[in-house]
Amino acid sequence: MPTQKERRSMHSRSLPPSPPKLEEELPLVVDPAIPGMARPFRTGYGQVTVAPVPDTTIEPMHDSYGRRIHYLRISLTDACNLRCVYCMPEEMTFRPRRELLSDDEIIFLVQVGASLGVNKIRLTGGEPTIRPGVVELVRRIAQVPGIQDLAMTTNAILLKELARPLAEAGLKRVNISIDTIQPEKYHRITRWGSIDDLWEGIQAAEEAGLLPIKLNSVVVRNFNDDQDVIDLARLTLKKPWEVRYIEMMPFGHVTDFQQTNVVPYDEIRRKVESVFGPLEEVGYDYVDPSRPFRIPGAKGTLGFISSVTEPFCQGCGRIRLTADGKLRLCLLRDDEVDLLTPLRNGASFEEMRQLMRDGAFHKPWGHGLDQGEIAEGRAMNQIGG
Ligand code: SAM
Ligand code: SF4
Repeated sequence: MPTQKERRSMHSRSLPPSPPKLEEELPLVVDPAIPGMARPFRTGYGQVTVAPVPDTTIEPMHDSYGRRIHYLRISLTDACNLRCVYCMPEEMTFRPRRELLSDDEIIFLVQVGASLGVNKIRLTGGEPTIRPGVVELVRRIAQVPGIQDLAMTTNAILLKELARPLAEAGLKRVNISIDTIQPEKYHRITRWGSIDDLWEGIQAAEEAGLLPIKLNSVVVRNFNDDQDVIDLARLTLKKPWEVRYIEMMPFGHVTDFQQTNVVPYDEIRRKVESVFGPLEEVGYDYVDPSRPFRIPGAKGTLGFISSVTEPFCQGCGRIRLTADGKLRLCLLRDDEVDLLTPLRNGASFEEMRQLMRDGAFHKPWGHGLDQGEIAEGRAMNQIGG
């Protein structure tokens, strides 16, 4: 056992005489010893690794309307193993891998966001579970200091195999898309899906503790606006799930019925109440886009996301990262900031912070659907819902 004097002399030998000067920033590499992305520099003492920005440097982002921007949705891929009629055409060309953010680039941008107060992340797509290495990526995102909530929106088709590894990697919750419980209709709406895979995925998510389970249903006139709405509401009588009815939104030129077949929130609510009686309010926080209600005595809840007829822009603290590295400031507007190009051109952590902070500051107040303004640039799968 070394004496106190020996310990002090060992310690002092290992300390450099002064803090190393950062002479040259090297290309990004991953240091497995440090969660997330580490930044290596060449110094007078050889290569050193600068750990992620500590919490004390966090400067929360705000937009020009004073909304705090703290929620980042990341599209992990524009590709999908389904082809939902309201989301994308059946024939699709997806972006080549090299045009998408790599895992290291995503981690780096998550660190940039976390240093600006992003504390909540949702992984989406396309279908996020089909991204190769998604479990490892989730593990690394979950370890970024400052990220408190990590969720995913998924069609659940692959959750039977992935729910447990994802939960063990640090994923907390899932939102699962289910537009009907009728097998044939499910296949018709998703074009390629089997509802058995969906139920197995939901069960696997429950068993893995990815709770609370939220079930998203986009209600489309003449597809699933009738018995389906009732069937989904009935699920909440016995299950502690939140079924959320979403008004269909229009994007670019995906399909004409995105505008003609919207079913307004109050119509869906009336339909549910015609069978189950008046719904009880559960307490709306004006931040979550979903307004929650309950069928009296039910274990779960019903939520209504009325993006088209009653927008909830005043509480929006979200920005989005598209799979090809653009910071999208509003789901329903084409305003974007290119992060991929500066990142690949070697922009520093501080420069990327500046870009993200400036982008967030210019977040538009809200969408312009009621003035007939439709985002033309991308379909939903390319943005991430
Ligand atoms: N593939 C995953 C899924 O389906 O859950 C995640 C990506 S998907 C684009 C995210 C959410 O957007 C899903 O809940 C989906 O139902 C919803 N969505 C897709 N197209 C939509 C549209 N035109 N209007 C409203 N919601 C839409
Ligand atoms: Fe795929 Fe989700 Fe779009 Fe359906 S909604 S096609 S599952 S990305």
